[in-house]
Amino acid sequence: MRTGAIIVAGGSGTRMGRPKQFLPLSEKTVVEWSLDTFLQLEEIDPIILVMTPENVRDHGARLSSDRVKVVEGGATRMVSLRNGYKHLPEDVEVVAIHDGARPLVTAAIVRAVLDEAYESGAALPAVPVKDTLKKVTNKQLWISGTPSRSSFWAAQTPQCYRREILDEALSRFPEEKNATDESQLVEKTGHKVKIVPSTYENFKITTPEDLTMAEALMEERRGGRRRTAVGFGFDIHKLVAGRELWLAGLKLAHPRGLLGHSDGDAVLHAVGDAILGALGAGEIGIMFPPDNPKIKNIPSKDIMAAVMAKMITAGASLAHVDVTLVAEEPKLKPHYEAFRASLAAILSVPETRINLKAKSNEGLDSIGHGDAIACYAVATVLLPA
Ligand code: MG
Repeated sequence: MRTGAIIVAGGSGTRMGRPKQFLPLSEKTVVEWSLDTFLQLEEIDPIILVMTPENVRDHGARLSSDRVKVVEGGATRMVSLRNGYKHLPEDVEVVAIHDGARPLVTAAIVRAVLDEAYESGAALPAVPVKDTLKKVTNKQLWISGTPSRSSFWAAQTPQCYRREILDEALSRFPEEKNATDESQLVEKTGHKVKIVPSTYENFKITTPEDLTMAEALMEERRGGRRRTAVGFGFDIHKLVAGRELWLAGLKLAHPRGLLGHSDGDAVLHAVGDAILGALGAGEIGIMFPPDNPKIKNIPSKDIMAAVMAKMITAGASLAHVDVTLVAEEPKLKPHYEAFRASLAAILSVPETRINLKAKSNEGLDSIGHGDAIACYAVATVLLPA
């Protein structure tokens, strides 16, 4: 039976700041791990990869191949799935539908679920629920019941269906835009769906902690063959009237700001140089020459996006960043938490991997006189061995 797959990676990832499917995970992005697993299974052809328009633009050409067709998704998972489904060739008889945010799926799981779908028509991988479930139906969080845990399984993907069964489900419930999986539509048609016991490792990346866990599991699978490199960065900018003050990707309310070709964000420049240092990839001044008119007033977040892209290409990931600001004014301690959250979002790592502190220069020299702000950063990076 001709088998195709649809990998849905069209989410906007509001909980992680940017689409989680393209966050760095070990030496690839989250979605590429799933894609590689599906590509290992030669009987699956084609693989339709559904992504946001921005990701189609940025990654589409790189991820397309004779087996992989990249298409644009929509506002919800269900809309994205329907868009992907339209591109499935007529003669595909069995379809595997996978969440792009489940990078730890194995070829064995995919094959087991497909085998069950060839046999019974509709199947999905799932694991027994481990925690005791509590029913809560009021805003005050009073418990109203405890269902028996033994009858609950947590559904995963790939969900696999014979084409006519999926077709019926999608065509009978065209208004269903918010369903979180296809199985619930198939169940409503009256077709039986079979569970294939899976592993807890096939979880969905939703929060920054999930990414940390996925990274640890990925490293273990790869035998922990990584080396650590440390990079150092420094930056200083003049503090002048008539400029906005940008630090760590945040605009602070202050009468003076840092003078520079970009927005003058000394924290991002020091961190960028520290990461490039660990990668052995030079400095941001080479990637963004100050005499290039195109970089005039660019947000330093754009510079960091280019640094992060370099890190992903190098197959590296960020283990830790430690930042020391030196400034007489403004007082920076009240902003520590906001700085940390902002850096974590820009660098796509949990906040636990970021440390930030600020010192005064004890009234000495230009920084002590309030005429400049300096920043030091150390980045620890894991590189492929
Ligand atoms: Mg600078």
